[in-house]
Amino acid sequence: MKLLHVVGARPNFPKLAPVHRAGVAAGAQQVIVHTGQHYDDALSGSFFRDLDVPTPDVDLGVGSASHAIQTARIMEAIEPVFLHERPDWVVVYGDVNSTVAAALVSSKLGIRTAHVEAGLRSDDLSMPEEINRIVTDRLANLLLTPSRDADARLRAEGEPQSQIVFVGNVMVDSLLHSIALARQRGFRRSLGLSAAPIAVTLHRPSNVDDPERLRRIVDVLREIARDRPVVFPAHPRTKQKLTEMRLACDPVRVLDPVGYLEMLDLMDGAAAVITDSGGVQEETTALGIPCFTVRTSTERPITVTEGTNRLVPEPEDLRQAIAELRGSRTDRRPEGWDGHAGVRILEALSAHD
Ligand code: UDP
Repeated sequence: MKLLHVVGARPNFPKLAPVHRAGVAAGAQQVIVHTGQHYDDALSGSFFRDLDVPTPDVDLGVGSASHAIQTARIMEAIEPVFLHERPDWVVVYGDVNSTVAAALVSSKLGIRTAHVEAGLRSDDLSMPEEINRIVTDRLANLLLTPSRDADARLRAEGEPQSQIVFVGNVMVDSLLHSIALARQRGFRRSLGLSAAPIAVTLHRPSNVDDPERLRRIVDVLREIARDRPVVFPAHPRTKQKLTEMRLACDPVRVLDPVGYLEMLDLMDGAAAVITDSGGVQEETTALGIPCFTVRTSTERPITVTEGTNRLVPEPEDLRQAIAELRGSRTDRRPEGWDGHAGVRILEALSAHD
């Protein structure tokens, strides 16, 4: 069986790693195509090293652009690669522009397409990711879901049951695989913090592109940081906005984006996490760490119903949420968040081959 994996942005890489590892164990022929949607070491290269994934076979180098231009560039550059490689499966991950661009091209070429992380919906079409999720799921031949609610959603949208396979959460595979190494690296210790920190990540346009909203969030984080350490590895997009607005953040510790192992270690030792990231909502549930998601909706409701996540749409409400922290950690994980999703994906691909 020949698999061609398409990845392009930071959240894709922890999803690729367990599937690729399972592919190696199963003796599959594998090709990794990196679109270059994220291209610098902090958001891309370091993840391949930390997750022990081989250097991509093909790098399309598309770089940053508007959504339309980036998607179009990926489609144009990836078509000849698909025609040359002729894989049995194109495997796409998550909800970024690389995901939908690859699915559009592979499905028109009649190459079977598998979507890892199918069936997630925020029901918020103002999120570019939601558009990518809907289109990718509509086109994919095999819908590999992280939770049972995603299966139900796909069925409700009319997808045939024969194309839906519940496999569990690949992000959790990577987390469980890497957490011991992450702890050993000791990033959090190296920060010399006085207490367990509040870790923060924010990069969704709804939070960082509106100056007023970003100002409100930063005001609250600064208040919280007067009582306990707040560590904020800031996405380049967020950092740029903070700089443009000349927003003072002290005593919040704003860092450049950190590597995967550093981020795991930071979350693992945190009192709580404040985020708008999809992956971080899942990782905090897997670690049993309280998570406050600064959004009105989540495409990962299972992190709320069965995990540690809580939606906090209004930034000002974070104060109270942090003040009420109890310091206890849960060890309950949703079904299939067990470290074996990658193996189940390989089984599903073989069974549908
Ligand atoms: N992450 C990281 N360093 C950071 C921020 C996030 O390694 O400074 C990791 C995070 O732990 C998760 C992934 O990046 O594994 C999630 O990516 P992101 O938040 O960019 O995307 P989303 O999941 O929201 O699509």
